[in-house]
Amino acid sequence: MSAQALIFSAAQQAFNGQHYVLEKTVAVGNGSAIIRFRANGTGPTLPAAKVLGGTPPSGRYIAKTWFGGAYPQAQEVQLLQSLAWSEHVVKLVNLPNNPFTNNHYVVMEFLSGGSLEDFKNDVGQVIPTKVLWSIFLCLVKACIAMAYPTKKVGQGVVPEEIYPDVEPDNLAHRDLHPKNILFDIYDPNGREHDMAPRVKLVDFTRAERLDKVEAFHKTDERDWDRYHGFASQPQTGKRNPGIDHNILSIGRVMAYMLGPAQSRLLSAVEYRIRLEDDDVSPSVELLDIIRRCLAVNPVNRPRLEVLLQRVQSRVYHDTTKQHMDNYLRRSWIKQGI
Ligand SMILES: [Zn+2]
Repeated sequence: MSAQALIFSAAQQAFNGQHYVLEKTVAVGNGSAIIRFRANGTGPTLPAAKVLGGTPPSGRYIAKTWFGGAYPQAQEVQLLQSLAWSEHVVKLVNLPNNPFTNNHYVVMEFLSGGSLEDFKNDVGQVIPTKVLWSIFLCLVKACIAMAYPTKKVGQGVVPEEIYPDVEPDNLAHRDLHPKNILFDIYDPNGREHDMAPRVKLVDFTRAERLDKVEAFHKTDERDWDRYHGFASQPQTGKRNPGIDHNILSIGRVMAYMLGPAQSRLLSAVEYRIRLEDDDVSPSVELLDIIRRCLAVNPVNRPRLEVLLQRVQSRVYHDTTKQHMDNYLRRSWIKQGI
């Protein structure tokens, strides 16, 4: 029996099919698996589904389960609860009549648009620069959410924001690659997500709070940071190892999105080598900022507020409503994994 089939069979044992139908094992990773299920349309369960953070339920959900250890999910669930109000992090779902009969399964929203890796493979080499800026802004906002967890105020939610007077959290995702970044459904009303659906981070299994300043090689710093002149304008102010780590990670993801399809798990060094080729991006500004995110010495990476300001200004720069054409839009809103 395959791992997928074994996990599905175990889920069937723990599943009450009165209001929901188990669909498939979507993924099996290191010590965890994802199973998809949907409401079967009977009973009043669906409208009452409570989603932390307020996204309306789609009728499909995923359940994450862990194996080979006693409840390793506790930390991840706690983190997802603390990040519940971010628009750029997967949400926990509190289902009425939860179909799982034991607590080894944690229910989350189903993000139907597929991963950045799926998208890259579907669209091929050339992704419009405007779309890349849009994805980049979502990733910057996810970094802000990890540093300054979004709060609910009264009935509303304050979107991801930097609070200069607040000591930021040093939470690093530590597994931020294009398969752990998923597209939500396309929201035609969201100005910021006009060019591409919002992306959200999933899988906080390896997330950790980092206290130590990252080690690096002086030679690499000379060959990359100094060569590109990043070290000539040292950033001032206190650094945060969690934020610095996340910025390097989103730099790697953006480097992956440029140029021809490649492995999603290249090292920072390998991505730096790829970015030496000026042909990887038609936008000098985009290339420059991604290179800075990949700075060897963390103090040469852009500060979160500088990164937000630069990327946001590119997303909002063009005021014409230049929608992407239907062909492209269809290809990245893939229904069903
Ligand atoms: Zn976004």
